[in-house]
Amino acid sequence: MDTASTSFQGLRAIGQEVSLEAGRFLWREGDRGDEVVLLLDGVLDVVHEPASGEPVVLRSLEPGAIVGEFAALDGRERSAAVRAVTPCRLLRIPAPGFRELVSTRHDVVLELFWQQVDRVRSLTGRVTQTHRAAITDSLTGLYNFGFFRDRLGLEVDRARATGDPLSLAVFDIDLFKRFNDRHGHAAGNEALVKVAAAIRAGSRRGDVVARYGGEEFVVLLYGAHRPEAAAFADQIRTRIGETPFGDPKNPERVTVSGGVATLPDDADSAARLVEAADANLYRAKETGRDRVVADPR
Ligand code: GH3
Ligand code: MG
Ligand code: MG
Repeated sequence: MDTASTSFQGLRAIGQEVSLEAGRFLWREGDRGDEVVLLLDGVLDVVHEPASGEPVVLRSLEPGAIVGEFAALDGRERSAAVRAVTPCRLLRIPAPGFRELVSTRHDVVLELFWQQVDRVRSLTGRVTQTHRAAITDSLTGLYNFGFFRDRLGLEVDRARATGDPLSLAVFDIDLFKRFNDRHGHAAGNEALVKVAAAIRAGSRRGDVVARYGGEEFVVLLYGAHRPEAAAFADQIRTRIGETPFGDPKNPERVTVSGGVATLPDDADSAARLVEAADANLYRAKETGRDRVVADPR
């Protein structure tokens, strides 16, 4: 059973049919919830009107949908406005009659329940999509800096509580400015996508791989001691060095430098772990690039 097959026969018997012109509001946010409305025909939008800025359409309702039932049940104010998108035919049901039906009619409660199931399912899908977009770097598909920063904090806390090691590898593409200058920004972006894919492919399931910034990447290796993390980072460096970039007929080599640091050996906090890995990355750059430095300080 879903919204399409709900009929709300019980409500139809006590409602009063009215019509609403396109663009008119059924009610506004903050109004008293003194009735429930069953949409018989047309389309209604549930709209949030912020104090400043454009109104936001929260959802659209199609015939068979019921609206305003929460406020009618708990006596609170309307949490959103409802506006007719097209000319609508509605059934208005006064709140006391609605409450009476809900307390006596099992079929009405069941229909309300299924309508909520539909709503929760569709909201869950939208929240998942929005959440994924919020934690992902749109160019490379890796986690973004914000997600990495949050996870780093959590993993550092976990590692400190358990005594497990936690390693961080940072990578920075070598002389990438020169690559952009030679091949253009678009080719540079393609190279970033390829480097990201190589890092992802070389990582274990569960490692947090993120784009830290422009042409810098980080991998958080939970449970890895320094030697494993150093071997991992060097394997990534080799993999990228062996990947052809740019024009397939005349491929170019792109290299990365890497820095590795481990908790608790090199740092006792998230910020210091990043600092220590960065310091080693800097040394990799200073000593010729296309290398990984994992030494203790
Ligand atoms: P080094 O080996 O010392 O790291 O040299 P580098 O040229 O890579 O370092 P630098 O920090 O001077 O330059 C980084 C370059 O990365 C500059 C910028 O044009 C490029 N870059 C950063 N973000 C992006 C991006 O999103 N797309 C492209 N195409 N280039 C980017
Ligand atoms: Mg850089
Ligand atoms: Mg660079």
